[in-house]
Amino acid sequence: MSGQTRYLNDLQTLVSLCKRRGFVFQSSEIYGGINACWDYGPLGVELKANVKKLWWKSMTKRQDIVGVDAAILMHPTVWKASGHVDGFSDPLVECKDCKSRFRVDHLKEAGKCNNCGKTSLSEPRMFNLMFKTFMGPVEDSAAVVYLRPETAQGIFVNFENVQVTARKKIPFGIAQIGKAFRNEITPGNFIFRTREFEQMEMQYFVKPGTDMEHFETWKAARKSYYESFGFRPENLRFHQHGEGELAHYARAAFDIEYKFPFGWQEIEGIHNRSDFDLTQHQKFSGKKIEYFDESSKEKFVPFVIETSAGCDRTLLATLSDAYREEVVPDEDTGKEDVRVVLGFHPELAPVKAAVLPLSKKPELQEISNRICAELSEDFVAQHDEAGSIGKRYRRQDEVGTPFCLTVDFQSLEDQCVTVRHRDTMKQSRVSMSGISTYIKEQLKNFRGEVWK
Ligand code: ATP
Repeated sequence: MSGQTRYLNDLQTLVSLCKRRGFVFQSSEIYGGINACWDYGPLGVELKANVKKLWWKSMTKRQDIVGVDAAILMHPTVWKASGHVDGFSDPLVECKDCKSRFRVDHLKEAGKCNNCGKTSLSEPRMFNLMFKTFMGPVEDSAAVVYLRPETAQGIFVNFENVQVTARKKIPFGIAQIGKAFRNEITPGNFIFRTREFEQMEMQYFVKPGTDMEHFETWKAARKSYYESFGFRPENLRFHQHGEGELAHYARAAFDIEYKFPFGWQEIEGIHNRSDFDLTQHQKFSGKKIEYFDESSKEKFVPFVIETSAGCDRTLLATLSDAYREEVVPDEDTGKEDVRVVLGFHPELAPVKAAVLPLSKKPELQEISNRICAELSEDFVAQHDEAGSIGKRYRRQDEVGTPFCLTVDFQSLEDQCVTVRHRDTMKQSRVSMSGISTYIKEQLKNFRGEVWK
């Protein structure tokens, strides 16, 4: 029946769409693929760039946050200081229930999880979560380096460099986007848990004693961030880490969870890491890492509030949330039909506008190519001339393009094009000379109307 809407309820539908339309491919597919690694195709790479761009802007538009881009390979002692070497280089068991991992020789009671007390432990195995490699030509233990398992440490070790050069006073934050690698025991659910992924992390340095206040502020800010891109509120929630669930460095932790077709899962963590990391780096490097507060004349090691989001997981949540099937009239025949729409917020949409000449006649092609070139100066626009107009609309709906611009024979006379809106399917006639401004205005004022 017209107007009926169905949202995503199985992951496979999305996986197929992603492959068919060029969002995500299996890595090294022609060789049979490699487990837990994925490649982003032409549309995926645009979507991912938008996910990162919006996060980066939301952080660095603030005067109290600046960015860094640290190397993936870091001094191996970094990972001793952070706890990753000790935590992950011995025979490990993983609790299937609370996902805590323990060295077998650290179990307080054989066969029982130290954290939740349950007995659902995996078989012990030599397991290092970090990918190891060698620096330089000699493969001996002195040359071992790791692919970073998180971007956070690149921020901590640069705390003083950034604070001094950017002349920042506490509280201030450092943001970073970059690849991280984890040799996950149980990867899966498409791009949800992979062995190579990207993180978007921000560490906010605060005065001890003010940490919980900043923690609460960031917690709220990060949830509203997702809501501001139209994520359906019923698909977002907080999960508080209980006493036993807290990581060794954390004083308090909340996850923002998204309701994926495979259940509620973390997309971002907000952690109060106390002064753990800076103190550890002080200890292991032998260098003082302190902040001198001019106003109170006090010296202290700052506390850290961390917001740690996965780029690939945010992208998967964006796709899952945007997917809908609607019963609407076919725009060629008027008959009821099911259309698939990725109802992205326009800022996230990989393609903002598609230009569709009604026929392949050179005079229409010339106009549509010109419009497409003009739009492409400001955002991603696509030229599509194959198939009926209705089919082309559907093709664009399925990848979430907010606007289709049709160039027809009347355009030759009135110098206007038909703009068809993705969500409402309504059409308006707009002058070619002002088309770029019109689309930019529409993108800015998007309110998330859906077809009625
Ligand atoms: P999980 O409990 O799901 O393993 P985590 O608590 O280990 O996640 P963090 O170390 O807090 O995750 O990392 C911060 C963010 O990085 C996560 O919220 C997630 O979005 C992303 N992330 C972590 N591990 C992976 C992975 N293997 N694949 C994709 N994204 C990941």
